[in-house]
Amino acid sequence: MTNTSNGLERFVRNCLHDLKPYIPGKPIDEVKRELGLDRVIKLASNENPIGASAASKEATRKLLDQSHIYPDGNCFELKQAIVKNLQVSMDQLIIGNGSDEIIKLLAEAFLNQGDEVIAPTPSFSEYWFAATVMNAYVTGVPLKDDFTYDIDAMIQAVTPKTKMIFLCSPNNPTGTYLSKTELETILNNIPSDIVVVMDEAYYEYATADDFATGIDYINSHRVVVLRTFSKAYGLAAYRVGFGIASKELIHYINRVREPFNVNSFAQVAATAAIADQKHVEDSRDIVEEGKKLLYNAFEELGLPYVPTQGNFVFVDTKKDSKDVFTKLLHRGVIVRSGDIFGQPTYIRVTFGTAEENEIFINELKEVLAEL
Ligand SMILES: *Cc1c(COP(=O)(O)O)cnc(C)c1O
Repeated sequence: MTNTSNGLERFVRNCLHDLKPYIPGKPIDEVKRELGLDRVIKLASNENPIGASAASKEATRKLLDQSHIYPDGNCFELKQAIVKNLQVSMDQLIIGNGSDEIIKLLAEAFLNQGDEVIAPTPSFSEYWFAATVMNAYVTGVPLKDDFTYDIDAMIQAVTPKTKMIFLCSPNNPTGTYLSKTELETILNNIPSDIVVVMDEAYYEYATADDFATGIDYINSHRVVVLRTFSKAYGLAAYRVGFGIASKELIHYINRVREPFNVNSFAQVAATAAIADQKHVEDSRDIVEEGKKLLYNAFEELGLPYVPTQGNFVFVDTKKDSKDVFTKLLHRGVIVRSGDIFGQPTYIRVTFGTAEENEIFINELKEVLAEL
């Protein structure tokens, strides 16, 4: 007889001990249930407050009778829709179960035990997760004091073991970005065999004139661009994102991809969403309004914030962020506490609807007055 837990800890792969579980934004229903609240707003996961395009909802409704049929493993229609929109070719695309999946596939395709990966910090925790699962080592390069990229430090962090560099622009949780000059400085000063992953999950919200997209470099460098339908397109529940890279690179990522990794509903929803760019514009407008409103409120309160290119803002509450988080939670407002990003006085807040933004500002004022 084997005791199932006896020695199991030593039996699992070593790297599992180094993994920190992902901390998601608290679900609305959980907060309602646990705190007995009726009105709860979630400004914690950078979701789109106006939801998905009507066209994509209609597309998934129509598909309900096809639930017994396997998805198209090649995502043909969706790839076609992306190709029309982005001037890349079908064989330069990989579709994933969220761009999260593509981060993991990249790690599986390229990282051997002991390889090194470079990532900015604070940034998206999935880079650490994916690399650690492969027994690779992540060198975190701190952003500068103003939370912009430290380009020189990123370049200097490269060693002969470096295989992959993650760049997140606009960066989660800071909203800072890479300019064209900065990106080119990195690309031109690292060994050309390194895979550079440009995570552009918030691309649609970026407005800076010198904002750089990695797409311009997929043929000249080993650049992989990640985009998602979870944020501006409002399809987070479906889990669909994509990668853009050279045909050769995509070929190898495909080797580790499950044959039916993206479900049919996600495929039709995303295909319809791409065709509705008006919805993306509306989503962008909401973000710009939220930005104005929250920037004003923070200035009034004397709270330093990081100018953002995303649909969220990183703000210094000058108090213990865990306390601010908890007090806001009890008032039905879910945000992200900065301590998980190593910034114990900051919170990250997603721009919501006008009404949600007002609620957040009012509750924040009261919470800060209490602390
Ligand atoms: C939200 C987010 C993603 C991923 O999203 P998916 O839902 O997996 O497509 C990827 N990168 C960053 C930086 C994000 O914030």
